[in-house]
This record gives sequence, structure tokens and C-alpha cells, in this order.
Amino acid sequence: MHFIKNQKLLQHSSYINGEWLKVESNENNQEIIESKFNVVNPATGKSIAHLLEVTISQVETAINGAAKAFEKWKLTSYEQRSNILLKWQALLRENSEDLARILTSEQGKPLSEAIGEILHSADYIKIYAEQAQLFNGPINQQAPLNQQANIYRKPIGVITAITPWNFPCSMVARKAGAALAAGCTFVLKPSDLTPLTALALAKLGEQAGIPVGVFNVAVGSNAQAIGEIFSSHPRVAKLSFTGSTVVGKKLLAQCANGVKRTAMELGGNAPFIVFEDADIDEAVKGAIVAKFRNSGQTCVTANRFIIHKKIKQEFINRLIESIKKLRTGSGFNSESTLGPLVNQRAIDKIDRLVKKAKEEGAHILLGGSSCQNNSSLGGTFYEATVINNVTPQMEIFHKEIFGPVVTLIEFEKKEEAVQLANQTESGLCAYAYTKNQKTISNLHEQLNVGMLGINAAKLSNPAAPFGGVKQSGMGREGGSYGIEEYLDYQYVCGGIQS
Ligand code: NAP
Repeated sequence: MHFIKNQKLLQHSSYINGEWLKVESNENNQEIIESKFNVVNPATGKSIAHLLEVTISQVETAINGAAKAFEKWKLTSYEQRSNILLKWQALLRENSEDLARILTSEQGKPLSEAIGEILHSADYIKIYAEQAQLFNGPINQQAPLNQQANIYRKPIGVITAITPWNFPCSMVARKAGAALAAGCTFVLKPSDLTPLTALALAKLGEQAGIPVGVFNVAVGSNAQAIGEIFSSHPRVAKLSFTGSTVVGKKLLAQCANGVKRTAMELGGNAPFIVFEDADIDEAVKGAIVAKFRNSGQTCVTANRFIIHKKIKQEFINRLIESIKKLRTGSGFNSESTLGPLVNQRAIDKIDRLVKKAKEEGAHILLGGSSCQNNSSLGGTFYEATVINNVTPQMEIFHKEIFGPVVTLIEFEKKEEAVQLANQTESGLCAYAYTKNQKTISNLHEQLNVGMLGINAAKLSNPAAPFGGVKQSGMGREGGSYGIEEYLDYQYVCGGIQS
């Protein structure tokens, strides 16, 4: 593990009910051998930590503790909650370099991107702390038939949350900040690939004064068993999930039995449309950000590049020129702009998709394989890759690639571009580059997505509603939209006439 100044941030077990779980001893004071799981640095393939596996009964303790804590936390004023959240986000900023080092060690992204993620997470928590005020007190309304009506907003209860490895900090902050601001309590299971950042957040939460039982982190490698309890325990009010559509569907089915509320932030297959009249340099700059940030491992990664026939060759030439300037390497090397993929499974999946596209008639213009023959790189790296002549008949067109692979598809008419863009089960986001006001004016109506970047490649904004349509999920995170996800409305009719 690279140098961490604040060693307290390095925790190796779950944080439940205000306690850090310890290895248990028997009556002879001998350590009971409990199972541990490994966390690996994907840039080297080497283990960086051994963490204690949470047991199922400890997960139940966490949920019961969160239910008990909810009874007090829901009665705190929004100012009290807001003050604690403001302290928490300030501590994230103060410790941003250490947190970023922990994040890069377990996830791989370049350190500068990791610092960006920590600060972005702090921004989310800050916005929630500020927006909590909007939900203060009842909404008084004159109901139809002149009846007196009060409408109350109430925190819904214990939230369980499951987060992925690609943004180990911001996916947690986006959920927990909103839930706590609303007055809910929270039990988190981060990915077993990147649990260290979540535990460091819990350490800072403890320091910020989050009361016992309000924020819990259960770390373990048995995702399925933890997911089952998270979606079936009677004291859980809502499950908030960010991850793949496949796992999201399973969790939805599991939650149906108890009619639990859910929020699902699932996979994407974003189109990146470049119209004939686009500023090509701007489009290429945008493409580099939208495709290669976090080595293409983001839900909003541009997956399918739909380029107008007349400018396609020029776009390709300039794109390849820019890609060649990217530097592949460990996130700790200050020159690296392209880090590793998270593990060998990710490499194998991409390798298979690329080979299949080639068999189906696509042309590989750049890259096309893993970096395993490059002796200067350890770990799990994949070459920046560009594939031309991709069509909707190919598997790669429909799959979320989740790696540094550009697929190019061509169009002539705008309707064709829109049709190609919508030809997917996902609907998280899209990008479009054009200087034509007429093209922009109705594009948002035509594209079936939750978010659209027009001549813009960075979508995430802590104040804006982040989320998708179709199989990209349901629910929104960010600003007041995110807080509403954790509130119920109660209608009280009538009263005592004075
Ligand atoms: P994943 O395999 O679905 O895993 C996500 C989380 O679910 C991890 O914590 C994982 O635990 C857990 N999990 C896996 N199987 C489970 C099960 N049967 N029951 C309960 N939990 C289970 O997804 P991923 O590969 O980590 O993340 C990439 C996916 O997330 C992509 O599809 C990406 O688009 C999506 N994503 C979406 C958004 C959004 O806002 N829409 C944001 C980021 C990522 P372990 O890792 O411990 O196995």
C-alpha cells in the first residue's frame, strides 16, 4: 500500500453499530481462525490487504442496530443532520490525498482521477446537507372539498445499499449522503474488490459524529448471501443498488416478496453521436474523456460511436492521434492516463467481445488485445482499441464493453443516428456533438435516455438528477432528487376545528 499519512483510515473489518469487528478468540484466548478475503492492486496483481469476512449474523446485527438507531435519527432536526454531513464532507476534503491513494491502490485509476472522485463525493454530501433544508416541516395544503389536509414527509427507514468497484467512493457518498440527510439509517456492502475506501469513509463518518448504528459497512466476499438478507430482512425499508443490470434484476425479484422499495442504478450502453457539422476537435476531446476515463469502466462510458459518414475518416484520424498520446500504466505513475482493468475477468470478457466482432466483420484499427506481453506492465491492462465498421448485427453493439474500446458505426441521416442510438435495452445516457441549433432542439425528446450531454462529455453533477431509463434502472441520485428517494409522503386529512 502506498504511503498513507492518516493510518487510521486503513481498516480491515466491518463497521457495525459503531464498532470495528475483531477476530474472535476462544476461552483459551486463542484466535478463532475466521475467514478472510484478499484485496488486490489491479496494477500489480499483488495482494494489498486481508479483510475479515462479515458473517450473516453480523449483517443481521447491523440491520437491527440500524433499525434501533433510526428511531432517534429520524427525530433529529435537519440542521443537526446537515451539520454532521458538513463535517463528514470536510473530513473527506482534508484527507483527500490519503483517500485517493487507498482508492488507487485497490481500484487502479490514475491518482488524479481518484482525487477528483473524492472531491466529487464531498460535493455530493455537501449538496445533500444543504438540500435537506428543503424538506423541513409539513406541506400545508387546502385539499379538494375544502377539507384541511397536512402532508408530511417522513424518512422511510433502514436502507441497505450495494455498490460497485468502479467508483468506490462516489457511489457510496451519492447514496449515504442522501439517505442520512433524509433521516434514514444505512447499511452498506461495498464490492469485495474495493472495500478499503468504504471503510475509510466509515472511519471519517465516525470522526464527524455520525451516531452509532446510523452508518454501517459490512465487508465480505459472499455478495449473494449478503444481498439476500439485504433484500428480505423485515426491518429493511429500501434497497439501493448500483451495479450491473443482471444483478439488479435478481435483487428486484428478491425485494418483490417483501414489497421493499428499490433504487436501481444499472448498466449503460451510451451512444456518442457526432453530426456532420460538429467541431471535430471538440468531439475528439469529448470522446477521450467519455471513453477513456477510468479506462472505460464507468456506467456513462461512451460505448458506441455513431459518426456521420462525411466526417468519419477525419474523426478517426484525429481520435487515433489523441489516443496515441494516452499513457498506460500504474495509477501511481504521474504520467499515466490509462490505468488497469479491475481484474482478469474483465480482460477476458473484452477480449472475447473484440475477437467476436472481428469474426463478424469489424476492422480493428488500433490495439485489440491485452497488454500481457508488455513486460513493463504487471497486473491487468488492456490496449486502447478502435474498431471500425461495427453494425447492430454484432454482439459488441449490444454489450456494455466496460473497457478502453471504441466501436465505430456510421450514419447519413439524423433519424438513422437516433434510431441506432436507441437500439439498445439500456437508457442511461447519450452524447451528441453538433453546432446546429435545430439538431439540438428536439434531440432530448428523441433519445430515450436519462441524461444527455450536448457538446459535453462530463455528465455527473451533484445537484442534477443522475439515473437512467429502460434497463438502466430507476430512481435518481443527486441534489433534492436524491433526497426524495429516501422519503415517504403521509397524508393526514381533517383535524380539530378551533
Ligand atoms: P456487479 O457485478 O453487478 O456488482 C455490483 C455490486 O453487486 C458489487 O458490490 C457486487 O459484490 C454485488 N453483487 C454481485 N452479485 C450479487 C448478488 N447476487 N447479490 C447481491 N449483490 C451482488 O457490477 P460491477 O461489475 O461491480 O459494476 C459494474 C456495473 O455497474 C456496470 O454494469 C456499470 O454500468 C454499473 N454501474 C452503474 C452506475 C449507475 O449509476 N447507473 C454507476 C456505476 C456502475 P462483489 O463485487 O463483492 O461481488
